[in-house]
Amino acid sequence: MSPISNREIHLASRPVGMPTAANFELVETHLPDPAPGQMLVRNRYMSVDPYMRGRMVDRKSYVPPFQIGEVLTGGAVGQVVRSNRGPLAEGTYVLSMNGWREYFLSDGDGLTPVDPGLAPLSSYLGVMGMPGLTAYVGLLDIAKPKAGDAVFVSGAAGAVGSVVCQIAKLKGCQVIGSAGSDAKVDWLLNRAGVDAAFNYKAMPVSAGLARFARGGIDVYFDNVGGDHLEAALSALNNFGRVAVCGMISQYNAIAPTPAPRNLALVIGKRLTLQGFIVSDHYDRLGDFHRDMSQWIAGGQVKWEETVYEGIENAPAAFLGLFSGENLGKMVVKC
Ligand code: NDP
Repeated sequence: MSPISNREIHLASRPVGMPTAANFELVETHLPDPAPGQMLVRNRYMSVDPYMRGRMVDRKSYVPPFQIGEVLTGGAVGQVVRSNRGPLAEGTYVLSMNGWREYFLSDGDGLTPVDPGLAPLSSYLGVMGMPGLTAYVGLLDIAKPKAGDAVFVSGAAGAVGSVVCQIAKLKGCQVIGSAGSDAKVDWLLNRAGVDAAFNYKAMPVSAGLARFARGGIDVYFDNVGGDHLEAALSALNNFGRVAVCGMISQYNAIAPTPAPRNLALVIGKRLTLQGFIVSDHYDRLGDFHRDMSQWIAGGQVKWEETVYEGIENAPAAFLGLFSGENLGKMVVKC
């Protein structure tokens, strides 16, 4: 057969501060037919995630940096479209870390079959995938909320935050969310069923918490850091817990950021702050899939996604994470 024409996104240069389209390059390649034992996979959806910004910096971290001139990687759901006696049948849908490209060849290593009959394909990148698991373990295992606790969630209308809010409600907590637009606040109040939500671009976070969490907060699920973390530390009650999931407000900073300026509060208030990385918690995947599929089927967890069309628009989708263009999970239909 003729070579397969493939388009993929390379890292053209390392961003300094806010990334731009110039940091990415759309490259056309040609793949040979699958060798014996190999399969050709056509990606259908790929994920863009805030953590990818950290991988664009050349530094040691829990995942290695992306290399300039090489194709980016990330979560993707694709379909085996050709198999040369490969381990999976043609037609099988698979989850992989081979995103940012239309096609790839594989011997099956690193591929996990997924069932489109159980959940929509793209949801394996969101509510049924890594962000959903992050919300599940970050809230239940790290923050350990009790019924009646006041739980504050930042980035509350995003992939992780929207799920955290709804699980906290299921556990009998009072939930306060912050998000960057009135439309997101409206979704949180009227779809996710939180008790209170505010637009942090319209009022300082400290004012939002003073208004909507009059008795203070017991748990803070941090997706944002900076001023959000500072305001949460001030609002936390004695023995409060913080699940430190992400600090997206700092990912594009070009100099150290000052907040939180009140870290000493952890002593007098006897607070616990615990960071976590979802990949340490894949032992919880079975529990997560069982609970989440029941919650979705029962209408207790609602999920949204924002879809960009075409691999050529993957950089724009990624950049959109930093300007809040997504409600729920940001994905690209390849
Ligand atoms: P989201 O779907 O929440 O998308 C990012 C959102 O962040 C945007 O929509 C925007 O919403 C908000 N945002 C962007 N810039 C800022 C800013 N300067 N200040 C405040 N809010 C901002 O992404 P995810 O749900 O995938 O990730 C949420 C957080 O969780 C991130 O920090 C991410 O790094 C972290 N994470 C951590 C994991 C772990 O293992 N620890 C795993 C997965 C994610 P808005 O309109 O509200 O501003």
